[in-house]
Amino acid sequence: MSLYLPEQVECKGENFKVFISKEQIDARLSLMGEQIDKEYEGKRPIFIGILNGSYIFLADLMRNVSIPCEVDFMKLSSYGDEKVSSGNVTELKHIDAKLKDRHVILIEDIVDTGLSMKYMIERMKSYSPASVKVVTLLHKKDATVHEVQVDYVGFEIPNKFVLGYGLDYAQEGRNLAQIYVLDD
Ligand code: 5GP
Repeated sequence: MSLYLPEQVECKGENFKVFISKEQIDARLSLMGEQIDKEYEGKRPIFIGILNGSYIFLADLMRNVSIPCEVDFMKLSSYGDEKVSSGNVTELKHIDAKLKDRHVILIEDIVDTGLSMKYMIERMKSYSPASVKVVTLLHKKDATVHEVQVDYVGFEIPNKFVLGYGLDYAQEGRNLAQIYVLDD
């Protein structure tokens, strides 16, 4: 088996080029895992992945964490099939785990306007957890208009549309093993 790692790729008629390589992602996740190990030692954190975009990042990040931890998922939709946010958050899958008095780590693929994360943080707080922290693989700081706490960031990126490593364009491209940017 070999990973899907083209230099350039066409998706839904648009061209994308490599932006963050597999090596860069692996190195960053190793450091993030170490940070989580230190901060959450003895706390048995629960990772809450925000579907769909975060599933690959979450899986790889968890394999870099060596303390006892758990996982659950929530599904939100705000983009539809477009490259810009619709501005609405819809909850498509709820949490199954009990979060009261738990240390919750929210896992997002990308914080763009911040709307989804703002919604998620409020939602988590309603369960009375012991703590809530936010981990995102990517942060488009210049695009963030909703004030949100982001505790761990993989990479700060410019306000450009990215694809791959779990992130889609109209549901395609999630299987790319690194992160690509629209080649305009
Ligand atoms: P926000 O609510 O912060 O505006 O957007 C968060 C969600 O929008 C992310 O979880 C992701 O699904 C989607 N998103 C934001 N920017 C991008 C991007 O550049 N590429 C892709 N594929 N999805 C994005």
